Order: sequence, then structure tokens, then C-alpha cells
Amino acid sequence: MSEFRFHVQASDGAARTGAIHTPRGEIRTPAFMPVGTAGTVKAMLPQSVRETGADIILGNTYHLMLRPGAERVARLGGLHKFMAWERPILTDSGGFQVMSLAKLRKLTDAGVTFQSHIDGATIELTPERSIEIQRLLDSDITMVLDECPAYGADKKAYDTSLDLTLAWAQRSKGAFSLRPGYALFGIVQGGVFEDLRQRSIAGLQAIGFDGYAVGGLAVGEGQEAMFATLDMTMPHVPDDKPHYLMGVGTPDDILGAVQRGIDMFDCVMPTRSGRTGKGFTRRGEINIRNARHALDPRPIDALCTCDACTGYSRAYLNHLFKADEMLGAMLLTRHNLTYYQDLMKDIRTAIAAGTLAAFAAEARAGWALGDIETPSGDWA
Ligand SMILES: [Zn+2]
Repeated sequence: MSEFRFHVQASDGAARTGAIHTPRGEIRTPAFMPVGTAGTVKAMLPQSVRETGADIILGNTYHLMLRPGAERVARLGGLHKFMAWERPILTDSGGFQVMSLAKLRKLTDAGVTFQSHIDGATIELTPERSIEIQRLLDSDITMVLDECPAYGADKKAYDTSLDLTLAWAQRSKGAFSLRPGYALFGIVQGGVFEDLRQRSIAGLQAIGFDGYAVGGLAVGEGQEAMFATLDMTMPHVPDDKPHYLMGVGTPDDILGAVQRGIDMFDCVMPTRSGRTGKGFTRRGEINIRNARHALDPRPIDALCTCDACTGYSRAYLNHLFKADEMLGAMLLTRHNLTYYQDLMKDIRTAIAAGTLAAFAAEARAGWALGDIETPSGDWA
């Protein structure tokens, strides 16, 4: 099987479950992609990432182009070999991080010029260069370079930005070398404006892509506006291609977006939270640093089968975080990624069974319950 191919096995309302086939392996959808920013999913060995159930990870073009550099990664055999992850990798275009991390940005029709946040070097990122970098990394799924106004900009700004984004999408397609098994995704922009989202989809469809991402959400608009935007956007996105919601989100965001037709997600939340002490459970979120866990011999989540939950107590994790021991971040990251992948697995099973609404109601009721009661006794 050398082609990139997507097929839907079952639908439940707008939700779909299926698989993306690539030469480096199958991606079961809906899928969650752990974020491997700088060639590593932080605090995790690649085989541990796989053990959580991840079929694909995301790499950040911006970080890798600055350090160690795309040409160096290519010389060392590509990103899969470099970081010892043999399964599929999706890379973003670098555009979002340029806007959020780099200094002294200058945006023109040609591209964006910026100063590296690492050494201050001046670098130009164009649609063509972004595609070239992603080819050098040997990314399985390449994203077009897009542009997105800062949240809160007026409609005129989104309208103008959309013209540029569509022109860049066309140039990205032109720069992408067609190879069997490799895919190029377009990105739907247009803020929370229905006519702009529709214009964006129509423009991208005319160019033609292997998948369609929804960008410009989870940037401060709130869950209600995000879901409303998906409600007005998703019915217009081609059904026969994967739908990817970029940078989302909480378990509840993911569940709601799946119910609106999204197939792929990425977010730093499970990994970043794992390093700061926040854990995700079937009874909502916990802060493992909190004193209520200091004498608690129970696992983070009794229903979780990850190494952190089968081998260690909340009390031990609380101690590790208090003592600033790196094992704390390693265990909690592993748990959080397992929790996210278990959620995706349960979602896929429920869609296949036609019971997603019941599953969603049950999951939300569990999150709303709040954490398990603190055991009675003498507390630190
Ligand atoms: Zn666990």
C-alpha cells in the first residue's frame, strides 16, 4: 500500500470513524496527534508514545528549521530516523509559531520575515520554503503556509488575510512535489464569519488538497464560538477527505468537535499539563501538586491502565512534583497521553456502534462530577 488514502468506516450523525492509510502505517480516526515540537514528545520515549495508542505525531516546522535545521535533519535521514519514530508525522507550516514566538515580524505578499527567538538571526519563511522544509523533514502530511489575524481583529482584516492565505495555498500546492504516500492539507481560515469560511473552503477546493484543516480556532474565542464556527464550516468541507482541527483541545473540545465532523486533532495540553502537574481523569482535571493528594495511595485514575496508574500513587506523584523530580513530569505526561488516546479509542468505538451521543453524555457527566473524594484521615 503506497498511496495516501482515507476511508470512512462508519458515521454517527456528523461524526465519522475510519482510517488514513499511509506507507508508514494506518492512522485510526478520529485521531489525536501528540505534539513533538523539537523532534521529541517532551518527557516521552518514542516507543512510550506509541504504547499510549498514538498512530501519528506532529512536528513543528518553526522549531526544527531554527534548530537543528531542516537540511541537517535531511542529511541525517529525515525526521523519522532522526527522532526514532517510524510511524507517520504531520508537520505544521511554521506560520503559527512565527506569529506567536518570533520577534520583529514583517509580513508581505511574498512571505514573512522574522528574527529567530533563539539567536536573533533574520529568516524568511515563504510558502515555497515552508513546503521545502517539510519535504526535507520527510513529513508524511505537509501543511500549507497560511496567515491568520490576531484574535479580535475586525472582519475586514480577516477578509484581506483570506486573500493572502488563498494565494499562499495555491503557491504551496505548486511547490509541493507529488510523491505516492505523501499528502498536502489546505487550511480553512475566515475567523468566525460564515461567508469567509465558505469562501475559504471553495477556494481551497478549487486548488484541491488531500485533506482539509480548520485553522484560526482555539485562539481565545471560547468553546461556544468554536463550536458555532464548526457548525457553519464543516457541512461545506468535502466529506471524502480527512478533517483536521488544529491546536484543539480539552477532552470536551475534542468530543464536541468530533460530533461536528472532525477526524484529527493536535494539542500541547496533555504534554504541557503533564509537566506542570495537571492531570486529566474520567472525573475531570486534577492538580497533583495539591495537598489533598499528599497521602492518597490511589492512582490518578483507577480505570486507566497506563504505567503511571498501575504502578504509582497520587501521593508519590505529589511528592515527585513537590521535589521537582523529572519522573513526575514523565509519569503524568504518560498518563495524560494515555487518557487522550483512550478517549479517542472510546469515541471511535462509540461511533462504530452508533452510540456516540450516549457516550458523550456519560463522559461529560463524569467530568462534571469532579475528582474522587479525599480519603478521610489525618492530612498533611
Ligand atoms: Zn494513567
